[in-house]
Amino acid sequence: MIQGIGAAAGVAIGKAFVLPNWEWSLPDNEVNPVDLAKEFERLYEGIRTSKDEIEFIKKEFREVVGPEESSIFDAHLAILDDPVFMSEIRGIIERQYKAAEVAVKEAIDHFVAMFDLLDDEYMKERAVDIKDVGNRLLKHLLGAPEVTLPSDTQPYILVAKELSPSQLAHLNPTYVLGIVTMMGSKTSHSSIMARALGIPLVAGLENKLSNPIQTGDMIVLDGETGSVQLHPDESTVREYALMREKQHKKREQLELLSTVQSVTKDGVTIRLAGNISSVKELNMALKYGAEGVGLFRTEFLYMDRDSFPSEEEQFEVYKLVAEKVGNHSVVIRTLDIGGDKHLDYFQLPEEQNPFLGYRAIRISLDRKDMFKTQLRAILRASAYGNIKLMFPMISSIEEVQEAKAVLNEVMVDLEQRKVPYNRKMPVGIMIEVPAAVMISDYLAQEVDFFSIGTNDLVQYVLAVDRMNEHIAHMYHPYHPAVLRMIRMTVEAAQNAGIHVSVCGEMAADERSIPLWLELGINELSMSPQSLLKVKHRTLNTVASDAISIAKVCLKNRTSSETEEQLSHFATSGGITPVNVLNIHGKTS
Ligand code: PEP
Ligand code: MG
Repeated sequence: MIQGIGAAAGVAIGKAFVLPNWEWSLPDNEVNPVDLAKEFERLYEGIRTSKDEIEFIKKEFREVVGPEESSIFDAHLAILDDPVFMSEIRGIIERQYKAAEVAVKEAIDHFVAMFDLLDDEYMKERAVDIKDVGNRLLKHLLGAPEVTLPSDTQPYILVAKELSPSQLAHLNPTYVLGIVTMMGSKTSHSSIMARALGIPLVAGLENKLSNPIQTGDMIVLDGETGSVQLHPDESTVREYALMREKQHKKREQLELLSTVQSVTKDGVTIRLAGNISSVKELNMALKYGAEGVGLFRTEFLYMDRDSFPSEEEQFEVYKLVAEKVGNHSVVIRTLDIGGDKHLDYFQLPEEQNPFLGYRAIRISLDRKDMFKTQLRAILRASAYGNIKLMFPMISSIEEVQEAKAVLNEVMVDLEQRKVPYNRKMPVGIMIEVPAAVMISDYLAQEVDFFSIGTNDLVQYVLAVDRMNEHIAHMYHPYHPAVLRMIRMTVEAAQNAGIHVSVCGEMAADERSIPLWLELGINELSMSPQSLLKVKHRTLNTVASDAISIAKVCLKNRTSSETEEQLSHFATSGGITPVNVLNIHGKTS
């Protein structure tokens, strides 16, 4: 078995189709001066075909992932109309008698080298676009064969060094059983799109294969765990087929619950919202019945690119998300980088303990220019929907006051410029640092809501690095210290009359439902993939029984007792989702 990165869940079984890499071989002979006109005609024809192709991809891509991602193709179209780029190409053909493809290649190299030298992120980004669009033009000029994927009657597992968004946009998800890439990670564009398209993907196999995969090789993969098996024996194929069948059946059943209200058997409602980091994830969350967005991790808008997103780019995304969510609300969290999240173009200091270091709100307050750009974009979008603002990693009253003061400055500026925004936009904070819990009564006086981030809270309360596999067995969300912290936070919120929800991974653990019921938490936010299983458990729960169990758990002195009791409660009894529909008779 080969272990890669599980980047998009699901099991795939099938034969490999290996995507060849494009290699250019350029003509080296001079063009006869009498043939120059023909060379220009070839160039213009290549440009026309490239434009048609880009328009087509843009349209397809837009339908799949939304306008903000597809705008990259507008930039590509603009390059093909750029007078400076074009006159460089024409000049090489005209003055040096070089073939159109050679001129295009030299012009690409010239501009890429020039832009790369400039210390300007925007220009560096343009260099990437020029390379991309130039390669497309070259492909047409050379008549390089389009990489033909196997016919649509033959499902296959696509194997590639790496996949670009436009290559992915061309795929027919019905026939692509799965994808294996040598490069990439969970946050690479291809992984994000594969998740949105529901295609299982394992990334990061570079240096893990003793022999390269060949077209026609039999493969089984699990996009959840990241395991890949080449040339599996019959029993392995049967085992994966069974796994796939079980997953499909379970998914189909759960999907019936998308429109059912999340309420216990005895009528207690637990609102389930989605944690998202992109419009694609929002689409998935809405598909699975999310009641709004409880956490929009905006840092992902800043990743996988060469420079900070502009105010306008951010505004468009925030506005789109708010509009799509409609009557529900969207909690937009300001940038939370540092710790394990980095930006290629923003140098973070080398730190001994990055999770205790320069991170989240600490960076925002240090880099007010960046912070204000994001706040302006969020405020402007607040005019278009029900947006709430949230600051991450708060540990003191001063931080909240300073962040709110910056927010106020931005509001005054927008007001002066008569830019519309929601003056009453609620402002909340993540409770994820123990200090915030201990002063949650004070903090509750400063903000409109709390969202408990258990991922960080657990690591900080227990001093267990959430990334360290050597101590992963010590990372216990059910540790009494964690549960006491959650209780304290809820009590502070209730006393101050502000709303409190949970948005860490603990919310996605359906065994925790009794705890939420007992503690008085009625809103959970989680990854879209987890929404339906948590709803299923809620529908199968009798709140009064659950509360009795939780009361016992909250007195336990060890996490293992609580884990055991909650696991037992979650698995004892239970009905099928279809029956649930009949029993509650409720659809929304
Ligand atoms: C958390 O810490 O629980 C949380 C939701 O934030 P993140 O996982 O993005 O740190
Ligand atoms: Mg966190």
